[in-house]
Amino acid sequence: MSPLNPGATIGILGGGQLGRMLALAAARLGFQCHIFTPMADDCALAVVEKKTIAAYSDVAALRRFAADCQVITYEFENVPHAAALELSRCTRVLPDPGVLEITQDRLVEKDFVRKAGAETTAYIAVDCEADLAAALQEMGTPAILKTRRMGYDGKGQAKITSPTDAADAWQTVGGAPSILEGFVDFEREISVIAARSSDGNMVSFDVSENQHQNHILKNSLVPANISESIADEAVSLVGRIATAFDYVGVLAVEMFVSKPNSKHPLMVNEIAPRVHNSGHWTIDGATISQFEQHIRAITGWPLGSPIRHGRIEMTNLIGTEVESYQDWLNLPGATVHLYDKGTINPGRKMGHVTQVFESCEIPAA
Ligand code: AMP
Repeated sequence: MSPLNPGATIGILGGGQLGRMLALAAARLGFQCHIFTPMADDCALAVVEKKTIAAYSDVAALRRFAADCQVITYEFENVPHAAALELSRCTRVLPDPGVLEITQDRLVEKDFVRKAGAETTAYIAVDCEADLAAALQEMGTPAILKTRRMGYDGKGQAKITSPTDAADAWQTVGGAPSILEGFVDFEREISVIAARSSDGNMVSFDVSENQHQNHILKNSLVPANISESIADEAVSLVGRIATAFDYVGVLAVEMFVSKPNSKHPLMVNEIAPRVHNSGHWTIDGATISQFEQHIRAITGWPLGSPIRHGRIEMTNLIGTEVESYQDWLNLPGATVHLYDKGTINPGRKMGHVTQVFESCEIPAA
């Protein structure tokens, strides 16, 4: 892949905070970005000059967008596969639209991960209420019913603690094709953010430990409080997954670390074929951010070798928490990021703070 020159235009599908941070990183390297989004008030639009506001089904708009871009990428994995495919007929789209097709469906994704040689939680496909009853009998409780498509931040999910919850759970997921997952009594949650170039080179950031509140990421702590061998295994299984995809760009893999002496020490929960919230710490906590690394990978530039600045804590500002941004401004070692989203809704990610601590020692829990 011949590298793009500074001044080239990178297309981004989706206009949320990930697109905003990608565009800022691209600008620092001298690239321009063109955002395509159906939503006129998306927060990434404020930081780019080139924008298309149109539906993903608007083929004429997609073609005009593609004609302006030397490469196109995503900040959001639920971009319709057909739109990505249409764009790929006109210009280079990275990662390949085939990756979207797999990661948009939890069942297909889990089959793929297992085939790539990584462990996942136990899962059974559920297409109707009778399937759910049978799956519950096989899996037992507790378990989690998750829609195959369009679920994020705990949406489209229902925990089932007893077979009598089945009807309610089926209603919660709207009767959509789903999977029943075994509930994991994990020790902690981690993620690996890694970049892969078109020639197969891979660079991973240090493993992040992630703490959720109401299924939404609240804090990422780096380094994760895990052994070196678990960290190495986590990075290596992300390598297997990225290679199986022939992936180009940054991807994130969220995993559960099991309690000691479990059969499988690591289980993949979810793949995000894009930059990820648990990698936001890299903007202020490392010499090269996940956003820059993604831009480098998709433009054919060499991947960087990021060096972490110390121990890091990233805190999401969710909903009204953003109103306390002034308090964070006064905190030594803290960097505040506000996404300028306007309307505050419960559960909406409005900004984040990265705290860098010089001492790398992990504090006692
Ligand atoms: P997901 O949307 O699948 O990423 O799930 C959001 C969060 O729900 C995860 O980060 C976990 O904290 C929790 N969760 C999801 N699946 C499971 C599971 N099988 N067992 C236990 N907790 C889970």
